[in-house]
Amino acid sequence: MATIFSRIIQREIPANILYEDESCLALRDVNPQAPTHVLVIPKKEIATLVDATPEDQALLGHLMLAAARVARQLGVSDAFRIVVNNGADAGQSVFHLHLHILAGRKFRWPPG
Ligand code: AMP
Repeated sequence: MATIFSRIIQREIPANILYEDESCLALRDVNPQAPTHVLVIPKKEIATLVDATPEDQALLGHLMLAAARVARQLGVSDAFRIVVNNGADAGQSVFHLHLHILAGRKFRWPPG
């Protein structure tokens, strides 16, 4: 089902896009939880990580490499956290798969 991220991908609503290629884009989160908070979003609509199939294997790897590239681009590649919230109880609010890149502050473990 289409979400707000599909509308951003289609350029129907504005976003602060930092990176784009044929299969994903990276944009600033509107409600940042760290000094750097960027979302890496596949252009393909996949609701959650568990909805991904073996057909998506290369795409999932691509998202990780794109996240590393964006972290380098933003100068935070020494320390950042990647988060994927899968399901409402895990904190997922937009049901279009995305990676959070969080950086610029100290992170605790275990996460909250
Ligand atoms: P999650 O809760 O893991 O599904 O993450 C969804 C994220 O999308 C949240 O951190 C929101 O702040 C962010 N978000 C929602 N709408 C927008 C938007 N229009 N532009 C950028 N980020 C958004």
